[in-house]
Amino acid sequence: MHHFHYERGRLCCEELDIESLVRKVGTPVYVYSRATLTHHFAVFDGAFSHIPHLTCYSVKANSNVAVLALFGALGGGVDIVSGGELFRARRAGIEPKKIVYSGVGKTREEIDYALSEDILMFNIESRQELEAISQRAQALGRTARIALRVNPDVDPKTHPYITTGMEKNKFGIRVDEAVENYRHAMTLPGVDVVGIDCHIGSQLTDTAPFVDALKRLRALMERLRELGVSIRYLDLGGGLGITYADEEPPHPTEYAEAILKEMEGLSCTLIFEPGRVIVGNAGILVTRVLYTKETPTKHFVIVDAGMNDLIRPSLYGAYHHIQPVVLGQRETRTVDVVGPICESGDFLARERPLPQVEPGELLAVMSAGAYGFSMASNYNSRPRPAEVLVDGARYHVIRHRETWEDLVRLETVPQT
Ligand SMILES: *Cc1c(COP(=O)(O)O)cnc(C)c1O
Repeated sequence: MHHFHYERGRLCCEELDIESLVRKVGTPVYVYSRATLTHHFAVFDGAFSHIPHLTCYSVKANSNVAVLALFGALGGGVDIVSGGELFRARRAGIEPKKIVYSGVGKTREEIDYALSEDILMFNIESRQELEAISQRAQALGRTARIALRVNPDVDPKTHPYITTGMEKNKFGIRVDEAVENYRHAMTLPGVDVVGIDCHIGSQLTDTAPFVDALKRLRALMERLRELGVSIRYLDLGGGLGITYADEEPPHPTEYAEAILKEMEGLSCTLIFEPGRVIVGNAGILVTRVLYTKETPTKHFVIVDAGMNDLIRPSLYGAYHHIQPVVLGQRETRTVDVVGPICESGDFLARERPLPQVEPGELLAVMSAGAYGFSMASNYNSRPRPAEVLVDGARYHVIRHRETWEDLVRLETVPQT
């Protein structure tokens, strides 16, 4: 469910006409619907309302401070993977007691920052990281609440780049080494063992892998209890998929039912780290057609957004639905929608049937709210696009379009 729809053939976000919006903010631009963000968060969080839980939105999916503040106001916490994300979360007013910190490569500086903020929990991904966090906590006179991120070795059947819970992946600690590591953690100063964590991948369209992972974690948890390790938090990560094309991912309530069935008899607080499922369909990327170009084998539609603005098609071969902002009667052609970047991998769609479009007209790249702007770069020295949050008939520019001046701001030429 989302709030992008056509009225008399014109694409609107909530009550705002996209073409009129773009006249003021330019292209390319990310447009998010506040009502959709709110609704998605409420549906996910509400699916677990009758049991102790914390929904920690995964910052990396869409890291804009205004988006984080919105979820914070709804009672959400966040899952972070860097010091920069912690900074954003704090700037957005997220309480440290609702912040969990994942990632295989936490630096000493980042660990110190998270310790000084006294976040809820570090999700630890290796023995060495465990030692490092213990040392830093001791040095700073702090206590780090920790969970071990366990790699349950289940196949989530998603794109290999976004699979994280298989043995070959770099993430987490092997299940059969977990008990030993927990034992060790119990002996370390500055460390308070409070949880178990896993995150098996992204864009999952079936509940079965989640249930398999939970079964393995549950077995581990019971063994730990026998050893006197009390687990207060069970963090199941994120990964629930969305509909980009014709996928039929489980609704959050179905996901909740599957999880809760496996939870019977376990008393602990559940933590979730949803990203894509909350923000993915709450945003679009609006781009303008610059040129069309014919070759003997291809029709190209050249637009002003490229792989630096939205890398998912180039990186994962991901599908994003593309549609004209203003509809009209016209023929369909099979085209490649490509950006201005000097790479053949710079495309938003390939071999895609699209109504015949003219230079100057606007296209909406749908489902671009997750891993869109947050993965954008300045490649080819392209200023990153603006981000706009629509609220009913109003809008706020929640990130200004970068300027050419911004591109060189941190650069200096040595005087020799
Ligand atoms: C990326 C990530 C998430 C969010 O994944 P989604 O598929 O967007 O829900 C959650 N937890 C961790 C540790 C992650 O790395």
